[in-house]
Amino acid sequence: MATGFLWDERYMWHDSRTWTDFAAPDLLLEPEPSLESVATKRRFKNLVDVSGIAPRLTWLDARPATVAEIERLHTPGYVARIRELSTGAGGEAGDGTPFGRGSYEIALLAAGGCIVAVDAVLDGNVRTAYALVRPPGHHAEADRGRGYCIFGNTAIAALHARHARGLERVAIVDWDVHHGNGSESAFETDATVLTISLHQENHYPVGRGLVSDNGVGQGVGANVNVPLPAGAGGNAYALAFDEVVIPALERFRPDLILVASGLDANAMDPGARMNLTPACYARLTAMLVDAAERLCDGRLVLCHEGGYSSLYVPYCGLAILEQLTGFSSGIPYATIMDGDPASIAVHEHERAAVTAAAVNVARVPSR
Ligand SMILES: [Zn+2]
Repeated sequence: MATGFLWDERYMWHDSRTWTDFAAPDLLLEPEPSLESVATKRRFKNLVDVSGIAPRLTWLDARPATVAEIERLHTPGYVARIRELSTGAGGEAGDGTPFGRGSYEIALLAAGGCIVAVDAVLDGNVRTAYALVRPPGHHAEADRGRGYCIFGNTAIAALHARHARGLERVAIVDWDVHHGNGSESAFETDATVLTISLHQENHYPVGRGLVSDNGVGQGVGANVNVPLPAGAGGNAYALAFDEVVIPALERFRPDLILVASGLDANAMDPGARMNLTPACYARLTAMLVDAAERLCDGRLVLCHEGGYSSLYVPYCGLAILEQLTGFSSGIPYATIMDGDPASIAVHEHERAAVTAAAVNVARVPSR
C-alpha cells in the first residue's frame, strides 16, 4: 500500500535567523546560519527527487492548520503573539527560537502538513506517511516556543487524531536526539496519548526527559522516557526498541502511531553525540512498521523534527522512506560512514540505561 510524502516549498522560506541573534549586541563572533537552516531539509527533498523513490510516493499537499487546531495545544495569547511578531519584523518565540517575517503562516503550514498526513492515513489513501515539515515542533510548549520550534506539529497532529477524528488512543514515538518536552508537557496528564521519547541524556532541554518523569495524575504511566548515554549506536537503540518502545506500544495498543522524526541522532550531526546511520534508521523504521501492522492496521505517520547535518540527514531520511515503501534506491550508504557505527556494541552503561527505562513499561495503560 502507498506511502504518503508531504513537502511544501514554503517550509524553506521560514527565516530562522543567525546565531549572532543570541550574542547581539556584544558582537563576539561572525554571524553564521542557525543550525536549523534550510539546507538539511532541502537536500533531503532533493535526494527524494533524484533517487528514484519519488514516483513510488503519494505526494500530499500541505494546508495551513486553523487557529482552532493550533489552540488545541497552544494558548490564544501565545498564538496571537507569534502572529503579531510575524506580521512585523519577526522576533523570538521563546528560548532559542528566533524567526522572521511570515513565519506564523509557515508554522501553520507545518502543523497543517502533519494533520494532512494523519488524515491521509486515517482515510485509507495511504498506509504510512512522512511529512517533511519545517519549522520543527516537539520542543514547543503551550505558551512558548523553544529550541527552533514554534508550534507543536506532532502533538497537534495527535490532538487532531483524538478530537477531530475520534481515535481513542494515539502513541507518539519521539526519536529526535533531544527530549520531546513539548509532547510530554501536552499529554502528561492524558492517558489516551502515550508519549515515548528516546534522547541523549540531559542534553536539551537540560533537566528534562528523566526516567522518573512518567506522567502526572490521570496520565501516570503514559509518558515513557528513554535517556541514553552519548555515543549510543544502532544496537543500543534497537535494544531500547526491543525492551521499551515496542513492549510499551503493545501494552497501549494505539489506533495510530506518530513518530516525532528528528534525525539528529545521526553519527555526523553537529547538534548531538549519537551514532545512528541510515541502516540504523532503516532498522528502527522496520520495527515500527511491524508494530503498526500488528497493533493499528499499519497506521504510521512520521513528522519531521530536528536533524542538522546537511550531508548526512538526507541519507537517513531516504533510508526511512525505503523501508516504508519497500523500494531500494541502491544508494551505497555504507560508503558514507555506515560500517563501524552500525556495528557498535551495546555497552554496559547503555544496557543499564535501557534496563532502567524498561521498568516503566509495566506502568503503561493497557487495554
Ligand atoms: Zn533535535
